[in-house]
Amino acid sequence: MSSYPQNNRTYQIIHAAQAGKYAVGGFCVYNYDGVAAVVRAAEANNSPALIQFFPWTIHFQGKHFIQFAADLAHSAKVPIALHLDHCIKPEDAEIALQLPFDSIMVDGSLFDEEGNIAYVKSIVQKAEKVGQTVEAELGRMEGGYKDVLEVAEGSGVFTEPEAAKKFVQETGVHFLAPSFGNVHGPYPEPGAERWWQMDRLRRIREEVGDVCPLVLHGTAISDDLLKKGIEAGFYKVNQNKMVRRRYMKFLAEEAGKYELTDLQEKGVQIYAEEIGEMMKLLGSVGKA
Ligand SMILES: [Zn+2]
Repeated sequence: MSSYPQNNRTYQIIHAAQAGKYAVGGFCVYNYDGVAAVVRAAEANNSPALIQFFPWTIHFQGKHFIQFAADLAHSAKVPIALHLDHCIKPEDAEIALQLPFDSIMVDGSLFDEEGNIAYVKSIVQKAEKVGQTVEAELGRMEGGYKDVLEVAEGSGVFTEPEAAKKFVQETGVHFLAPSFGNVHGPYPEPGAERWWQMDRLRRIREEVGDVCPLVLHGTAISDDLLKKGIEAGFYKVNQNKMVRRRYMKFLAEEAGKYELTDLQEKGVQIYAEEIGEMMKLLGSVGKA
């Protein structure tokens, strides 16, 4: 019998990816179609996956939808975990700890360094009691999504490698999202290749080691750069808009032409296909 955190679903999925040197997708979704598309893509490609919500889902769709998504994820034929992304408000973290998430990301990036350590440590201790694992951000990535998080241009803070080691040791956090020039949403000109600090990333990875796998946020990037990121040691890669472009286009162009049943079935199929292509790029196909 394995015990915490080895018995945690997110922990198992990410550590298997680290051992196998591939990345698993953390797919941010907002509705039934998104949840169903991740499950279908994962099963069709024999791939592990993470379904991710923002706190918005807790508030807008409510706890029954979280339970539904957890049931769907946990009854899939392949390992799928349910994760909460960017939980910024401490009161949301308290709610999330009572919900059937396998893991939560607490975003204490707006605290100072010591405040972030104290906050994340307190959440890790509470999460252990309910069997959840915890991802945290150190430094502060710019950009964001409307109604979710928004960090103004010029107020980003890079992760210092030595501070990352201290942060992981003192908080006991399970997964770390570093800030090394990555941003949420579109990258400023001339693109992510220019802004990613690969040397900083290498040093962070050296300091943190295999104990705490790194998570890549800010993935509106080229396929080539994504591959470089995986080679540099990201084993969980968050995905949001990049895997629902065709789904959104389909809805925008075809909504008036189909019955709602057909629209949803075709929409989920298109969404799942684009997620499946991302799974191939990440290297998680066939790894379930
Ligand atoms: Zn993020």
